[in-house]
Amino acid sequence: MQAVAPTPLPLQADAVVIGAGPVGLFQVFQLGLQGIAAHLIDALPHVGGQCDQLYPDKPIYDIPGIPVCTGRELVALLERQIAPFAPTRHLGQQVDSLAVQDDGRFLLQTSAGQSLQARSIFIAAGVGAFVPRTLKVDGLAAFVGSQLRYHPADVNAASGRQVVVHGGDEAAVRAAIACAPTAASITLLHRRDVFHAAPALLAELQALRAAGRIHVAIGQITGAQQAQDGSLQALELLGPDGGHERLPLDLLLAYLGITPRLGPIADWGLAMERKQLAVDPATFATSQPGIYAVGDINSYPGKRKLILCGFHEATLAAFAEAERQAGQRLPLEYTTSSERLQTRLGVAPLPAG
Ligand SMILES: Cc1cc2nc3c(=O)[nH]c(=O)nc-3n(C[C@H](O)[C@H](O)[C@H](O)COP(=O)(O)OP(=O)(O)OC[C@H]3O[C@@H](n4cnc5c(N)ncnc54)[C@H](O)[C@@H]3O)c2cc1C
Repeated sequence: MQAVAPTPLPLQADAVVIGAGPVGLFQVFQLGLQGIAAHLIDALPHVGGQCDQLYPDKPIYDIPGIPVCTGRELVALLERQIAPFAPTRHLGQQVDSLAVQDDGRFLLQTSAGQSLQARSIFIAAGVGAFVPRTLKVDGLAAFVGSQLRYHPADVNAASGRQVVVHGGDEAAVRAAIACAPTAASITLLHRRDVFHAAPALLAELQALRAAGRIHVAIGQITGAQQAQDGSLQALELLGPDGGHERLPLDLLLAYLGITPRLGPIADWGLAMERKQLAVDPATFATSQPGIYAVGDINSYPGKRKLILCGFHEATLAAFAEAERQAGQRLPLEYTTSSERLQTRLGVAPLPAG
């Protein structure tokens, strides 16, 4: 890992947790018990990682003490549990770079231009950052952020414009409906005239189609046409019957789903084993002291990618960092009986009298 000069005015943090999946959330809790305040960063605009993104309504049966809960319910319970420690959240931004500084602290930079300087880093990055699937069409990349916005897009940008919403799932349907009151026109573009969304949303879509507020186009984007001023003017479509069409637009909102990408983590100079971060199973420290890896992102003998294993890892990593900072072994305290832990949790009984 290379030493770098600090960027101007980074936020100061005791600890930064990269990834707000179930293990990152529990890491915040365990750090809080150790008296270490955390900043929490995730590429998604919300917490929950795979539980929320991949199986929000499916049951989980192997969380200790919870016979059954859905992915979404587990995330809500974890949110409740970490509430006393109120981590500073930086959501909707990916951690792009991480470097060690001369003073031993770490400097990280997010895709939103935020830099943070931290004493310790906890990488709970799972299978990678969840990022939007992108369109692989020549000529479109130049418009990302201006006339092409990826999920989650700000639908306020649609006001008064000819909008094409591309996608067939609930997020696309929801975006098309949200644009309807203000856009000059809305076309919902998908490869089939079949949309997956909650029944109430599908009914609303149907009503807006019947009223002529939302048009549906069936086809695949094969090209992009530019106006003389260089702006994106129209999409070229290949229809289901093999015919070609031109679809004029001012704004393209693409909702093509989310995919995990390991991304920059592999470039941070940390020892890896088959795309996972190698850790010491006694402390879950990586090859760089002060940087820990917990949950699906790590690798050690006997590793199992299960939430409860991630919870164990987060617990030992928090102890390890607390002892590294204290420079000595710390006594074990129980939340059941330790007044210090209960004070940190905000549940300590008030002194008598
Ligand atoms: C369908 C399905 C069912 C499952 N059922 C169970 C089950 O019943 N029991 C069980 O124990 N496990 C189950 N699992 C596995 C479980 O979901 C994972 O073990 C768990 O989600 C791992 O948690 P995590 O916090 O390590 O990572 P994740 O949940 O993957 O969260 C990682 C987060 O880190 C973010 N991130 C990554 N890189 C960056 C970066 N550079 N910058 C910013 N953010 C970043 C990602 O956006 C993501 O939100 C299931 C998995 C699937 C897919």
